[in-house]
Amino acid sequence: MKKNEKAIVVFSGGQDSTTCLFWALEHFTEVVAVTFDYNQRHAIEIECAKAITDDLQIEHHILDMTLLNQLAPNALTRSNIAVKNGEDGALPSTFVPGRNLLFLSFAGILAYQIGARHIITGVCETDFSGYPDCRDQFIKSLNVTLNLSMERPFVIHTPLMWLNKAETWAMADDFGKLDYVRNKTLTCYNGIIADGCGECPACELRMQGLNHYLQEKMS
Ligand code: ZN
Repeated sequence: MKKNEKAIVVFSGGQDSTTCLFWALEHFTEVVAVTFDYNQRHAIEIECAKAITDDLQIEHHILDMTLLNQLAPNALTRSNIAVKNGEDGALPSTFVPGRNLLFLSFAGILAYQIGARHIITGVCETDFSGYPDCRDQFIKSLNVTLNLSMERPFVIHTPLMWLNKAETWAMADDFGKLDYVRNKTLTCYNGIIADGCGECPACELRMQGLNHYLQEKMS
């Protein structure tokens, strides 16, 4: 049964947030999406998000967050910084300090304005690459803060929090959307839609998860 309430999905056009979009459509009667434009390395990310929301006929807000780019030069925002995994416990070069803090706070403000109670984000602690703002504890803490700051009973939902990539593919498949997510989303750090470049850390994670899931499904 869908709840007769309004939900807003933090949406990047990637595998995780697209799966969350389908999750939201299963759970709430009214769903809108919000995408943050922080001059990411690949403007195609925004185009990809737009194409999906157009296709699914979902109200789509794109918010200018270029301030984040100004504050936090990093591999996702500057093309002259290489994408690298963190070594010896260091955070990867793709870490943008405060990103989820800002994104979810702005999503909360938008939720207030449009009368949405539910906020959905695809953050995940399982393969969180050490990003502190993907942890469950952070999300719960921010949920309390948002509610106190605006006196609204917002609920932040994190459907992927404890899933690995294979389980995220399984969720998309449960909704009958595996091929959709596989073919229309962008996860690749090199800006290639669908199966991507196959070589960057994001593609590796995505492909490993998909292979793992498909193998399990066959057996
Ligand atoms: Zn790639």
